[in-house]
Amino acid sequence: MARVKRRKPYRKRCRYCKTNRDVIPIVYAQKIDEELLQKEQEGELKIGAAFVGADLPMWYCKNCGNEFI
Ligand SMILES: [Zn+2]
Repeated sequence: MARVKRRKPYRKRCRYCKTNRDVIPIVYAQKIDEELLQKEQEGELKIGAAFVGADLPMWYCKNCGNEFI
């Protein structure tokens, strides 16, 4: 039986760059551990500042620095 292929994780598209190629998710972590830091260094995600507020951006574009929901 064929297994379902893992899909690439969904990423939103940057409205300025018209692509999601450089878009990474922003992670708001209570505890920042080594794994998260390593992933941030590898450019897989961005660690968001832990502040409370509405409409926190979920995505960050490495190409233009745009943060968006
Ligand atoms: Zn962009």
